[in-house]
Amino acid sequence: MARKRTTNLRARRAILDAARRMNALGLNHGTSGNIGFRAGERVLVTPSGRDYETMTPGDIVEMDIAGGHEGPLRPTSEWRLHRDILATRPDVDAVLHSHSIHCTALAVLGLEIPAVHYMVAAAGGTSIRCAPYRTPTTQALSDVAVEALDGRKACLLQNHGAVVIGETPDACVRLLVEVEYLAELYCRTLAVGAAAGREPTVILSRKMAEVLEIMKTYGKQPDSEGSES
Ligand code: 13P
Ligand code: ZN
Repeated sequence: MARKRTTNLRARRAILDAARRMNALGLNHGTSGNIGFRAGERVLVTPSGRDYETMTPGDIVEMDIAGGHEGPLRPTSEWRLHRDILATRPDVDAVLHSHSIHCTALAVLGLEIPAVHYMVAAAGGTSIRCAPYRTPTTQALSDVAVEALDGRKACLLQNHGAVVIGETPDACVRLLVEVEYLAELYCRTLAVGAAAGREPTVILSRKMAEVLEIMKTYGKQPDSEGSES
């Protein structure tokens, strides 16, 4: 047990750093949200209801795929979400769920984020879908989230928040920065547009196809620093 903790200490630190950064950047609310990181056949997740500031690497919970865990702390109540996304998405190793304000505001309206800005392509498609409302922590919520993420790296959860996925917890935070920006941009344009009698313009799908092609190399350097999309 002690040995296992030492071998995945870096992964635990990566989760903790990302969780603290997410909150420091104002991209979450209190102890809500959670992060999961693949550890071989198992998953490391943040504990349920714990303050990220006082949390230590040893508080990160190691879970098996059935949701079983050892140690005194319970895993995040959304452990099914982390388990199922990692099981169905071999292209990523990390999952981040947050209640960031603008993503959640759009999710309250049941709105997806359309291609109001080309950076929507950072999430892998021509929109960021909104999964229909399901009770938090349930298998039903996990099922609709997996579906909304099909071919994508981010989705909203109706009346709840957002999910982003990536290679590492840090990559997830970086994508959340973009998704929350897009959500705020869309909220503002909807509000100003309503006052001005205008609707936000949306980039045509065939034009977004060009952006998706550009995104394969956009912002990437040969040394791989910052190469996660
Ligand atoms: P946990 O504190 O159990 O991770 O739950 C927070 C949350 O966002 C539930 O949807
Ligand atoms: Zn939540």
